[in-house]
Amino acid sequence: VSGLPASIGSALLRARRRPPFILCYHGVGTPADGADPHGLFVSREQFAQHLDTILAEGYTLLTVSDLWSRIAAGETVSGLGAVSFDDAFEQTDREAMPELAARGLPSTVYVATGLLGGPHPHMPGERIMTAQEVRELAATGVEIGAHSVDHAHLSQLGEAAALGQLRSSREVLEELLGQPVRSMAYPFGDYDAETVRSARAAGYETACACAGAGPWEALALPREPVFPSVTTLRLQIKLAGLYGHVHRVAELRGRLRRR
Ligand SMILES: [Zn+2]
Repeated sequence: VSGLPASIGSALLRARRRPPFILCYHGVGTPADGADPHGLFVSREQFAQHLDTILAEGYTLLTVSDLWSRIAAGETVSGLGAVSFDDAFEQTDREAMPELAARGLPSTVYVATGLLGGPHPHMPGERIMTAQEVRELAATGVEIGAHSVDHAHLSQLGEAAALGQLRSSREVLEELLGQPVRSMAYPFGDYDAETVRSARAAGYETACACAGAGPWEALALPREPVFPSVTTLRLQIKLAGLYGHVHRVAELRGRLRRR
């Protein structure tokens, strides 16, 4: 964390507990046109470093659904975490999955079913996985979850249309995979109380938000977004559930300096 003295950072790390976490990645690899205005991609090298950090810290990774099952059962979940990917970029398949497989690590990929095989809506140079690629990924043990039909702002659609997106994306994936789809992620992390009701009505056990640490609610699971700016130290702080605190400390120091 820039501007934060190393002594404070290491004190926070020493004081850390080991709450469960879900990391939210988008693309892994190098964007085809070299442009990534939204910071959606981390390099394969950086992703591999993140995995090695997670393992070196002694965490065990599960799929999102398996992590939630342990939390819901009241089991001890200290030291457990999950890695998730939104949007099912073809590059994520090619660049992230071999790094996970080499370490024997599970993950969860969230797929917008209406975009399969086509360009990403915000990075048209990048392709979304095809139905066949998603099926092959699921066969390797990767959990597949839904991400609406066309990557919609679900809270802005109206209840009937949002429910339609939630139901349809689940049905399409279950048909494609021949197995239950238990989890989804809200596109843009956009949801409200009505969206949560719709996600429940559509039959999901879990739905992921994007925001950082928060209460563990099944249909608004907190995730830590990971951008290219997430260094190893920042990742360690995120894993420790302390990122919000560090930001508040940094803000406070800034305010004090300006006085
Ligand atoms: Zn998305």
